[in-house]
Parts: sequence; C-alpha cells; structure tokens
Amino acid sequence: MKTINLDALINSLEGLEIITDPSQIAKLSQDYHSFSPVLVPKLEGKVGDVVVRPANEEEVLKVAAICAKFRVPVTVRGAGTGNYGQCVPLHGGVILDMTRLQNILWVKPGLARVEAGVKLAALDKKARDSGWEIRMAPSTYRTATIGGFIAGGSGGIGSVQYGLLGDRGNIQALRVVTVEDEPRVIELRGDDVQKVNHAWGINGIITEVEIPLGPAYPWAEVIVTFDEFMAAAKFGQALGYADGMIKKSISVFASPIPQYFHALQQYIPKGTHAALLMLAEPSLEFLPELVQQHGGKITYQKPAEEAGKGVNLGEFTWNHTTLHARSVDSSITYLQSMFPANQSLQLVEHLYEHFGDEVMMHLEFFRVNSAVVPGALQLVRYTTEERLNEIIHYHEQQGVFIANPHTYIIEDGGRNVIDPKQLKFKEIADPYGLMNPGKSKVLQLKIQN
Ligand code: FAD
Repeated sequence: MKTINLDALINSLEGLEIITDPSQIAKLSQDYHSFSPVLVPKLEGKVGDVVVRPANEEEVLKVAAICAKFRVPVTVRGAGTGNYGQCVPLHGGVILDMTRLQNILWVKPGLARVEAGVKLAALDKKARDSGWEIRMAPSTYRTATIGGFIAGGSGGIGSVQYGLLGDRGNIQALRVVTVEDEPRVIELRGDDVQKVNHAWGINGIITEVEIPLGPAYPWAEVIVTFDEFMAAAKFGQALGYADGMIKKSISVFASPIPQYFHALQQYIPKGTHAALLMLAEPSLEFLPELVQQHGGKITYQKPAEEAGKGVNLGEFTWNHTTLHARSVDSSITYLQSMFPANQSLQLVEHLYEHFGDEVMMHLEFFRVNSAVVPGALQLVRYTTEERLNEIIHYHEQQGVFIANPHTYIIEDGGRNVIDPKQLKFKEIADPYGLMNPGKSKVLQLKIQN
C-alpha cells in the first residue's frame, strides 16, 4: 500500500476540525470488538493516521475529494459502539467522525429526516413531542448514531413489533456521498436503500437518513421471574404472539444471567429465570393472566410516567446483557443467533440443556415475516477459539443461524456473500476501493501506488 504523505494530507484538510493527537486517534480507532477474545489480538494496534470531524455535508464532500486525491483509506465512524471492529481501520488513513452532523431536519407524522450523526435517543425524544417514536433501536441508543445503526446494526428494542432494520419499509431514504475525484451526493429511496443498508461503510458516506416512525406509546417496564427456564421462554413467545398486546421488547434470561444485573438483583431471586419486558401501558391489564398461565411471578413494574427515572430495563437487553456480564466476568463472550420459527421451542430447549452453564441462554424475541422468532445472544464461558468454533458449528448443524460476532470479515459474519447490489453500488460510490478496506473477502484493496 502506498505510504501516506500525512503532512500534505493534513495541509489540505485545513479549515476542517482534525485530530492528530495519537492517543485520541487510537481511541477513535476503537469500537466494542473488545467483547470478542478472538478479535482483540487480531485488531490490536490498528489505528488511523488522522481523525476528521466534518460539521456538515459540504465538509464531508471536501474530505471525500481529498481522500480520493491522496488515495487514502477512509473509515467512517459514528459513536464507535459496533461490535465486530466494523469501524476499526485496518489500513490506517482517515477516520471520518460523523458525530457533528446532528441536525434533525424534520419530523412529520410517521416519518423523520435527520443527519447521520444524530443520536437515536435524541431523535426519539424529538419525535415523541409530536406523538411519534423511533420504531427500533439498539440498546446503545443513548450514544449510537442513526448512520452507524443503519451501516452497522440490525435491530433491537422495538424489533418484536417492527422486525429488523433491513425489512422493507424500515428505512425510507439515505443520502450518500461518494468517494471519488469529484464526489457526488446520491439519494437512495425505497428498496434502493438496501444498496447501503448494513454495508459497514464500504460503499458511501451516509449524510442523511429518512426513517419511518411508529406511534408513540407509554411504555411500562416489567420483570417476571420463573422457576423453569422453558416456562420463561414459552411465556416470551406467547406474549410475542399476543397480537393485541403492544410490546417493545421481550427478553428472556436463563439463570444465572440475571445475577449479572446488579441493579435488578432485588427483583430476581437467585436461581430463577427472568423475562424483562417493555409493554404499552394499556396492555398491562392483560399481563397477569398470561404470566399466571406460565407459572411466572411479576416482581417489578415501572409505569411509563417514570420512564427515564431509575433503572431502564432496555439497557439490560440485547448486547447490554453481555456488557453487564463482562463487567463481572471479563472472560465471558457471546453469540448472535436466530432460531427457526417453531412454536414448540424444541431447539431452544435442546441447546439450553446440551450446553448447560457453558452457553447461557439469552433470548430476544423479534418479528420475522410475521412470525415471532427467538433470537439469542447467548453468553459463552470462553475457553479457546477452537471450542468457540465447535459451539458455533454445533448450533449451525442443529439449524440455528449464527451471525458470528467473532470476525471482522463481512462474509464470515453469517451471510457468506455480500449482497451483489451493494458490490455494484460500491463500484459507483468508491471506485478506488478506499472505504473501510480489508473488511471483505471479495474486495481487494485497490489503492493505486
Ligand atoms: P459505529 O460503531 O461508529 O459504526 C458502525 C459501522 O457503520 C462501521 O462500519 C462504520 O464504518 C459505519 N458507519 C458509521 N456511520 C456511518 C455513516 N454515516 N455512513 C456510512 N457508514 C457509517 N446493535 C444492534 O443492531 N442492536 C443492538 O441491540 C445492539 N446492542 C448493543 C449493545 C452494546 C452494549 C454494544 C457495545 C453494541 C450493541 N450493538 C447493537 C452494536 C452497535 O451499538 C449498534 O449497531 C449501533 O447502532 C452502531 O452505531 P454507531 O454510531 O456506534 O456506529
């Protein structure tokens, strides 16, 4: 790869906010791949050469032109909360920090348009002023940017109602800047958004997002405990399928996972299994009977009017579960899986029993083609990479889809191939192959010497 003439590069970035302090650059070259003992050694020491913090799209265009001119790799970064080294630069170059693009451009009934660096929580707050809310968010919603969620995330709190981000209708439009000699601005609308959705920032810099909203509900938070894990799992699924009950999240944790949730321990007796729920307040009235049918016990209930006060159950779900567990035992890592739609939950039961305490079951229910499916972010007591791969392989043999979080190669994360539409769009948006290079098997670094 061509050596970067850093001084000349920095000179041409004059007028833009840049960071050249090595410790700051090192910090802004990181994400949360630290959850994976496999990725940590592989990504050690991977840092950018300079961080640029554009304030608006005009400045993004300028950086894109400079990167193209100098043939310098550019790694786009939101809040850096991704889990697979998605925004760790493998070949140095420019880190393009998008967090200053913070304007909420408009909110209409059912739809909002925002700049890419807007935090999900900020958009949600603004939308709620007019009776709307974001449809789904990762459990990192307080810090994560909407651009990073679309380029790197997949779904989360809200997905039990609305499905995943990639489902048709969950992203309305994306405005993207290309990295070429004369960068262009391209608006992708409707199904065309899939050309860039979840593409890890390899084929264009998202500057604006138009995102559908849902009607805002008053969300109550509830904890239900169970003596039997499968009773908790079946309860979760039954609630998921109760179409008249509106919910935002249904998370089920096998013992001993709830013991990692320090702030919740008084509500979850040791040895019990727990469901953490976010439920529209009017639906609460129907909950006790459903809980009773499954042998559970409601131990905690926070009304919607207290949202934002005290603990927030959403921040114990999705990959926040792993965060809490790792803060107690840093040797713990995790898997990301999707079980086939099968109402008997036989496979969940089999894997729960098969691995016992080595793979602790954490289910997140979400909607897939109208079915309510258990996804899982199982906690794994890590021993070796070989054992981890054995565990993954066993799940796959049984028919569980694993989105492997222990790789920084897009194709190895479970899809095996990159969507051909995304590759085709890359030819247009990144003809020199400068964007987040090294994250794909099929894309060779095309930086010209
Ligand atoms: P970053 O990490 O900064 O970037 C992610 C990817 O997007 C990178 O490849 C980057 O290059 C690219 N990118 C960023 N901005 C742009 C842009 N403007 N244009 C083009 N490319 C861009 N994810 C979920 O989906 N659901 C969850 O529930 C969830 N829970 C999490 C819990 C924890 C504790 C942690 C650590 C992570 C979790 N994640 C989850 C992963 C991550 O937090 C989310 O995907 C988040 O939305 C990423 O946003 P970000 O701004 O931090 O993106």
